[in-house]
Parts: sequence; structure tokens; C-alpha cells
Amino acid sequence: MNIFKKIAYRSYQVVFKLAIPFLPYRKPKLLEDNLALVTLFDGLKPLIITDKTLMQLGLLNKLLELLRKNDISYFVYDGVKPNPTISDVEETRSLYLENNCTALLAIGGGSAMDLAKACGARIVRPKKSISQMKGLLHIHKKLPLLVAIPTTAGTGSETTLAAVITDEKLHYKYPINDFSLIPHYALLDPDMTINLPPSLTATTGMDALTHAIEAYIGRSTTKETRKMAKEAVNLIVNNIYLAYTDGKNITARKNMLLASHYAGIAFTKSYVGYIHAIAHSLGGQYGAPHGLCNAVIMPYVLNAYGKTAETKLADLALVAGLATATDSKTIQAKKLCDWIKDINHKMNIPTKIKQINKADIPAMAKHAYKEANPLYPVPKLFDLADLEKIYYEVAENV
Ligand SMILES: [Zn+2]
Repeated sequence: MNIFKKIAYRSYQVVFKLAIPFLPYRKPKLLEDNLALVTLFDGLKPLIITDKTLMQLGLLNKLLELLRKNDISYFVYDGVKPNPTISDVEETRSLYLENNCTALLAIGGGSAMDLAKACGARIVRPKKSISQMKGLLHIHKKLPLLVAIPTTAGTGSETTLAAVITDEKLHYKYPINDFSLIPHYALLDPDMTINLPPSLTATTGMDALTHAIEAYIGRSTTKETRKMAKEAVNLIVNNIYLAYTDGKNITARKNMLLASHYAGIAFTKSYVGYIHAIAHSLGGQYGAPHGLCNAVIMPYVLNAYGKTAETKLADLALVAGLATATDSKTIQAKKLCDWIKDINHKMNIPTKIKQINKADIPAMAKHAYKEANPLYPVPKLFDLADLEKIYYEVAENV
């Protein structure tokens, strides 16, 4: 990347870093249990945004019964699919209005929460399309009461100001970001995650790890986000395999939910990096699952950062007990990267991405470049050629 661009991008990031203490960040308030949730909805009518699998598993039964018992009416939309689209947003918005709903309750993984946030944004901004909300701070208006119950651990989406939406016509996936999209409340209930199959436990857990690592190695950390990211990495390293092999282990599930939540708090203020930018481009182009993409891409991008991320990766390796203080920084960082490759292998995550088509690489690299630069305070700036090289490394069939 040429020096003038570098200076421009880094200056932009410094301005954002300096602005952190003055921006209206907030954390969702954590609810104790279902009863607290029901009390919150007293006098309101939530549109519950969830998916068919969770309904069929009966995971919502207890909560719905409690709502009925307390005379709280609600409407359930169970059409959430991975990578919510603009038409999904419009559909939920119509349901909200037709059914006179007054609050939003997202129950599910990142897609349910993304959809609920985008639906809320369209409700308070009826004249602005989702594509006009792309990027930073185009909503500027309070959303209806928005509560999130994550059923994966996870996206950490219950803490974030982003909703990732796919434009199905353009095959383009992008985030809309605004402080008003941060859910007002969240309920972290490990019982909601015990049915998550091992493959999803693995990929969503690796997504949370990516949030924590990208936030920590970036240049815009704060004391709080460093603490949150370290705690998240420690919890994930020490619980993900347990949750993967023994899904009913409530302690492991609870720790993974907490880790995902902490990682969410970390990257909300300190951003992600090229791993996410590349993963989003693959999601937009092929519908490739987000967590899986991050898990596969992570070792390649960390390797490409080289020395620039070494000291910080070394810190994380130490915190998680993967390295000792007597190891050199290089060895400590390598131990974390080796652990990532090893845990991917143990959890049946591939080392390459099958779908990548050579002809699509330039356009995807451009999308990733645009998403990351200048917003993400990455340890090392990549230009288009650097990014394309990573797609070639990650691709299985080119
Ligand atoms: Zn993610």
C-alpha cells in the first residue's frame, strides 16, 4: 500500500480511537431469567424473531407459556435463515406493523439478531432503505425495545451496534452500524445452547474467538476491551472443545456464552479486521457460513500479519495458558496459532474453502478491501494484491 494511503487510513483510525470515550456506546443490560424478561414486556407486544429449528426443538415453549400466563400478547416470526436479506427485513417490518407490535425479541444466533436490529431500524426510519443505512451512523433514532436471547455462542451480536444484511440481488453482504442498534437487554441462558450441534458449537465458538483476537491485535483497544478480549480468549481456549464434545455440559456452555458476550463488547469498540472482511465477502458471494469462514481464514491472516501482531498474540497465548513466560514472544504467538489450527482440525473444520472460484476473487477482494479500509484498525494494512493472495491461499480449487 502506498505511503499516502497508509497515512490517510491510519489518521482516520486514530480519530476514531480518540473519539471512543465521547461516543454513546452502551452495553445491553443482562436479565436474570425469563421472569425478568416477561416483566419487561408488561404492556408491550413483542414481535419474536426466531427460526423454525428452535421452535421445533421446543426451546421457546417455556418462555411463550410464561408470556401467555401473564397476558402478554406476542407474534412469532420463525422464518430466520442464515444471512438475512433485505426482503427478510421488509417481511418482518410488515409483520410488526400489521400485528401492532411494540417491541422486538430476537431469539437465535447472529442472523436472528441482525434481522431484528435491521427490522427495528426500518421501523424507526420508514423512508430510508437498508442500502441507504449501509456503513456508519445512518439511523440516529431510538429503536423500539429490543431484547436478545442468543442461542449460539457466538456472534456476540447481543452486544454490538452492527447488523449484517445481504443484498440478495447484488450478492453483497454488508454491515449497518449505529449505536441505536445495540440491544437494550440480553438474556444469557445456557439451556438455550445445549441443543446446538457440535459443528455449530465449533464454528460459532471460533467466530467469538475471531472477534476477541481481531479486537485485541487491532490498534484501537481500550483498557476495557483488552480485558474483555483476554477473558474471552481464555474462556474459549479452555471450554470450546468441552462444549463441542459434551454439549450438555452446562458450565462449558455458560462459559462459551460469556466468552461470546465479552468478545462482542471488545469488538464493538475495537473493531474486527481482515479475517471478518474476507469472511463477509465469502458470505455475500456464496452464502458460506460466517463462523466457518472465520475459523478457516484466521490462520492465514494471522500469518500474513507476521511480526506486527506477534506481541499481542503472545499476550493472548499466555493468558489462555497455551504458552509459558519463558518462551520467546515468537514462540508464544506461534503456540496460539498452532492451537487454532489444531482445534480446527479436532473439530472437523477444514483448512480450505471449497466454494471459492478464481473468477470471483478480484471482486471479493475489492469488497473486503472496502469494508476494512480505513475503518478497521488492523495491525498491518493490506492492499488489494495482499488480499487477493489470501483468497488464493484459502481456496481449495484454484
Ligand atoms: Zn463474526
